[in-house]
Amino acid sequence: MSRTVLITGASIAGPTLAWWLHRFGMTVTVLERAPAFRDSGQNIDVRGAGREVLRRMGLERTAMEAGTGELGIAFVDSDNHVEARFDQETFGSNGPTAELEILRGDLARILYEHSRGGAEYLFGDTIEALDDQADGITVTFKKGGPRRFDLVIAAEGIGSSTRRLVFGEAAQRRPLDLYMGYFTIPKGENDSALARWYNAPGGRSVFLRPDKRGHTHAVLTLQQAPCGYEKLSPDEQKRMLAERFADAGWETPRVLEGLARADDFYFEMIGQVRLDHWSKGRTVLVGDAAYAPSPISGMGTSLGLVGAYVLAGELSRHDDHAEAFAAYERILRPYVDQGQDVPSLGPRIAQPRTRFGIALQRGVLNLATKPGIRDLLGKLMAPPADKIDLPDYGHAAHAAPHA
Ligand SMILES: Cc1cc2nc3c(=O)[nH]c(=O)nc-3n(C[C@H](O)[C@H](O)[C@H](O)COP(=O)(O)OP(=O)(O)OC[C@H]3O[C@@H](n4cnc5c(N)ncnc54)[C@H](O)[C@@H]3O)c2cc1C
Repeated sequence: MSRTVLITGASIAGPTLAWWLHRFGMTVTVLERAPAFRDSGQNIDVRGAGREVLRRMGLERTAMEAGTGELGIAFVDSDNHVEARFDQETFGSNGPTAELEILRGDLARILYEHSRGGAEYLFGDTIEALDDQADGITVTFKKGGPRRFDLVIAAEGIGSSTRRLVFGEAAQRRPLDLYMGYFTIPKGENDSALARWYNAPGGRSVFLRPDKRGHTHAVLTLQQAPCGYEKLSPDEQKRMLAERFADAGWETPRVLEGLARADDFYFEMIGQVRLDHWSKGRTVLVGDAAYAPSPISGMGTSLGLVGAYVLAGELSRHDDHAEAFAAYERILRPYVDQGQDVPSLGPRIAQPRTRFGIALQRGVLNLATKPGIRDLLGKLMAPPADKIDLPDYGHAAHAAPHA
């Protein structure tokens, strides 16, 4: 089908969509705000149907080989004693370590390289205005002036400005009362392929995860209602975390040393995006921009991959874009609902405020590792369900298959 499509955002959902749309014969431009392709980002999970989308793109093996090699998660105390251990081998997709753990930048790079032969990529610009008309949409770029497309698809992540431009304040941000800072630190002597999770009183946790390059990826989490930390500058956010974690114990001092030096620090207020509809006129949203489930669900990347696949497939099936957008939403909504099904008490259970709460959490986690109880209590640690019958759009791949 010959359509001209502008996709904004070159992370996970954007390049996936670009590859499929090109495969279905559409002319694709990808606009990314950053001045060049971004390699940064920490560990992300790809589960079930997300992995199937990579398989259908011929990328599953490449992505598996680029994975972080994380073997599971150990919950440790301040003396580094393991109190509960969830091995990937034992727990499989019911455990906290996904079948495919990969650094965001590595997966985004794989998708970008795979799609760039079939799409025009533009960096360092954003949309300033949109004029939606009966026969097309005129997009005014901040730097590049006006251009006309048939459709605009925003894959801009949780803070999407195009979503604001088109939907106003219709999108609800459901805060989960968590702040997270992610950054890379040098590998320490206790760091291995087993990720380690440590809790300190006051709703604090320190999570250290491996990669295959000899680095350690740190996540500092604060259980805290929104209080404006997200508005601080990155240096202020680093200082705030250093103060809040100063007396946390365990290996936190070396983590804070790494924090001070980190040049890939990424900080966010954790929340979900909820919208009654994901499209308006000729504009539609995909990935975190439409339905961010939050990192604690472990489903953001899978939703982005699956959402991009279904949206591209439905556009290939329908001449009328409105019908395609409706079908995309009808097929994907139940899957998104599963992905966003994070219990509201989850953040408090994962980050208890008191020593008693931590001891209780560890007792329950330990129980969850025991055979017999594992299946029942293991669900406490498991991500939301990941069930969708992925449509087969193979019949529509009538134009320009691209490697
Ligand atoms: C740099 C970075 C680091 C990340 N690190 C982590 C992490 O450590 N752990 C984790 O769980 N998740 C992380 N994420 C989020 C994770 O990638 C997503 O939750 C998930 O993969 C869904 O991806 P997405 O493509 O929908 O959105 P995102 O991955 O958020 O990508 C959105 C893309 O759109 C671009 N963009 C934003 N606004 C505009 C605009 N107005 N115009 C054009 N382009 C725009 C962004 O620069 C980005 O490339 C990170 C995202 C980014 C961008």
